[in-house]
Amino acid sequence: SSRYKTELCRPFEENGFCKYGDKCQFAHGEAELRNLNRHPKYKTERCRTFHSTGFCPYGPRCHFIHNEDE
Ligand SMILES: [Zn+2]
Ligand SMILES: [Zn+2]
Repeated sequence: SSRYKTELCRPFEENGFCKYGDKCQFAHGEAELRNLNRHPKYKTERCRTFHSTGFCPYGPRCHFIHNEDE
C-alpha cells in the first residue's frame, strides 16, 4: 500500500501496543514513520487554526504544532 507506514498507528500511540505488531500498516512511533509525504515545515510552526479556535480538523495529522511538547 502507498500509505504503508505514512501515518502513526492510533492504537499504538494511545496504548503503546498494537495487535498487528510488525505486520501493522501504520508506523509504530516517529522512527518508523516514512518521510515522503511529510511537509518540510512539519511541526516547526504552531497551528493557527488550533491556537485560535482550540480545534483543528487535521487532528494528530496536522503539519503544525498543536501542543508545545509535540
Ligand atoms: Zn499498529
Ligand atoms: Zn492543526
